[in-house]
Parts: sequence; C-alpha cells; structure tokens
Amino acid sequence: MPRIYILDTGVLVSTWTDKKVESLFVTTPNIIDEVRNRLSRFRAETLFLLEKMEERTPREDDVRRVESASTSSGDRSELSQNDIEIIALALTISGESSDVTLVSTDFAVLNTASHLGLKILDPNKKFGQEITWVMKCPACNYKSKAPTRETECPVCGTEMRRSPLKKRKIR
Ligand SMILES: [Zn+2]
Repeated sequence: MPRIYILDTGVLVSTWTDKKVESLFVTTPNIIDEVRNRLSRFRAETLFLLEKMEERTPREDDVRRVESASTSSGDRSELSQNDIEIIALALTISGESSDVTLVSTDFAVLNTASHLGLKILDPNKKFGQEITWVMKCPACNYKSKAPTRETECPVCGTEMRRSPLKKRKIR
C-alpha cells in the first residue's frame, strides 16, 4: 500500500513532490482550483501533478473537529477555509488508512494538525514546536483565549496580539 500524502497549496507549487514517485497524493477540490488560478513558475509541472492527484472532500464532522481544535490551539484566526479543509481531509483519510501524512509549510496548519494528533511533515523542516496560543495585550499583559485576532483588550483598549502560552517540542 503506498504512503498517502495530503498536500496543501504551498507544497503543490513546490518541487517537493518530485522525489515521491511511489506515493499517492490527495488534496481538496478547492485547493486544486486555487493552484490552477495561481500563476506559478512551476505551472507546467504542477498541472502535470494535478493529473496524478486524487481529489477528495473532507467529512463535515471532521471540518467541525478542525474548527474546534484550531480555536483551542489559538490558530483559528490564521486559517483560511482551504486550510481548515485540508486538515479535515487528513483526518477523514486517517480514519480509513494508516499511512497518512499531512504535508504543509504553513505553521498554523501544522500546529492545528499536531494538536489533533495527525502525522505531519514540513518540507522546510522549520516547524519544531507545537504551540498553544492565546491573545495577549502588549500593554497590560491581559490574556484571552478568544479566537479572533483583532480583539481589543477589555482592560485598556490596546490591540491584542497572539502569544505562546504552552510549547511542546515535536520529535
Ligand atoms: Zn490591556
């Protein structure tokens, strides 16, 4: 059985897939559209790759699981709908096969997936810590777990920023 890689946009337009000839690649229909509409130096190769790729839609309850996990991890405000769907697709396919890895270069995607216990791979090898984020006021240090980014501090009115609450080393 081939190893299954769930690919997000950044990986699709990179050359990472060139070395993985024996693998099966899967992504969502919306990411395929996003890549098709993007003018890329790797356009020809990418289009060829899209032909070899399986297209799947995640299960609805996996989408909700990702929304809830990304709210707890503090990544919700950083994720697009396509990001949420690709993590959810990794959950859906992990429920069916054992050798499933989500490949992404996006830290919010990798972080949420790590919180969900998914196998993850960062081709740039830069993602090394699983983080639980909170919103923190840079002026008075008030902390909040509210999922939105543009929250004003309820104490002093300063714009809050994302700040790490907990860190855990990966591998
Ligand atoms: Zn404040």
